[in-house]
Amino acid sequence: MCSIKKNIEQVMEHIDRATQKCGRPEGSVQLLAVSKTKPIEAIAEALAAGQHAFGENYVQEGVEKVQHFAQHAAHSALEWHFIGPIQSNKTRQIAEHFDWVHSVDRLKVAKRLSEQRPAHLPALNVLVQVNTSGEMSKSGVAFEEAEALVEAIAQLPNLTVRGLMSIPQPETDYAQQCAAFAPLADMFSALKAKYESVDTLSMGMSGDMEAAIASGSTMVRIGTAVFGAREKR
Ligand SMILES: *Cc1c(COP(=O)(O)O)cnc(C)c1O
Repeated sequence: MCSIKKNIEQVMEHIDRATQKCGRPEGSVQLLAVSKTKPIEAIAEALAAGQHAFGENYVQEGVEKVQHFAQHAAHSALEWHFIGPIQSNKTRQIAEHFDWVHSVDRLKVAKRLSEQRPAHLPALNVLVQVNTSGEMSKSGVAFEEAEALVEAIAQLPNLTVRGLMSIPQPETDYAQQCAAFAPLADMFSALKAKYESVDTLSMGMSGDMEAAIASGSTMVRIGTAVFGAREKR
């Protein structure tokens, strides 16, 4: 019955094995459970199994879940990550309800998030989404422009720049997966040396988690392997 609990245990084991295999310290890769399209009950089950960080792609759906759990004091330890494409007319809701945003890819959106972040909340944690697949992908700032965007975001008062995120074109070949992650990992190392707040590299999903971890990911975003297949939206 507790299939989500079992799934989380298996995913955690998988993460630990991959982390050990490439000689990285235990616990250096976090699991972000991607709960988009999944009901409150599924999130509650994951929470009961010890999972605290959840990723949502759609603003309205995410806000409803954040508000539901905010009403339960015992659930205040939840951490909500917005990982979907951002329309600028939705920034206020994101700034008011989420703890992290992985998908910031332009300064206009970053400025709005900073302006709209409520004063009683801590700074919003931001990752810059980088397009590592060239013309194949529409989301993410161009690789060449990413460092300048990080620099501009670091000046904004109500945001904390935490690192980079990427969704490479799906590849089944391990070496090709690693090749797609490598430039981002290099940029992350350079940023980490420059900014004290930078500590998070969000890359790796169900199909490319091992390559992402071997390439230096600190946070993998896993949906299906935790919650099961999604309904078509
Ligand atoms: C849906 C989604 C995931 C999780 O995908 P799975 O294949 O279900 O593990 C990760 N990252 C982003 C940005 C997503 O939209």
